[in-house]
Amino acid sequence: MRLEDMSWPEVEKVLQQPNVIILPVGSTEQHSLHLPLDVDSRCATHIAERVAEKVTGEYKIHVLVAPTLPYTDSSSWLSFPGTMGISAETLVKVVEDITRGLLRQGFRNILILNGHYPNAAPITIALRHLESDFPDAGLYALNWWSVGFDTIPGVRKSRSGLHADELETSVYLAIRPEKVHLDKAVKDLPRYSVSERWAEPDLCGTQRLIYHTRRKHPIKGLSPGVLGDPTVASRETGEKIITAVVDDLAKIILEIMEMPPRT
Ligand SMILES: [Zn+2]
Repeated sequence: MRLEDMSWPEVEKVLQQPNVIILPVGSTEQHSLHLPLDVDSRCATHIAERVAEKVTGEYKIHVLVAPTLPYTDSSSWLSFPGTMGISAETLVKVVEDITRGLLRQGFRNILILNGHYPNAAPITIALRHLESDFPDAGLYALNWWSVGFDTIPGVRKSRSGLHADELETSVYLAIRPEKVHLDKAVKDLPRYSVSERWAEPDLCGTQRLIYHTRRKHPIKGLSPGVLGDPTVASRETGEKIITAVVDDLAKIILEIMEMPPRT
């Protein structure tokens, strides 16, 4: 189901049948002392592949996973060695160009699965640019932590987190435990300059106020590069989160394809 593993005639064949293509969008960015740089890319890719496996296996819909976009808007953490990225403006163009190419080939159901919060706005703008040119297309995007909301609050131990936190660490532990150094994990809670009534410093929280900066400055030497509490992360929590997110994404795809879920 990985696009890069297929030949073009195989892709052409899929295009003649009900299909959805998922484009995972990640980052190459520091994730504190205990995680590698590929967390956002790896989590989005893994979830996309699990969804593809589930939907393609259980239903007659072909779900393809496009190669993950690893260079995105990581401007906040550039002072940390190894962090690489492009500007938000460039990202709009990159997502727009890639999506336009897929649309021209005949893909009509495109789901962008984001693994890095700051990418959400550029992705939205890119899809807005394409809407009028391809009115018959289904263009969708979401952050992976935006679903699974019936499960995540009940399995997490920490109350807030934005980066390299319990959620990301747990999910990564479920995917590649050998690359997580939990003994090096430190807790540093995120704070915004406004009260939680308007913006909760949490990936899954309410964000009524869009801009709420003046949080702890993300500079090497002043911050360990974490916003949350990864010390309470566990593989078990990660597995539960992944299952819940994959199940919800599968339901979304069935709705997109107008197929009733099997009970
Ligand atoms: Zn991340």
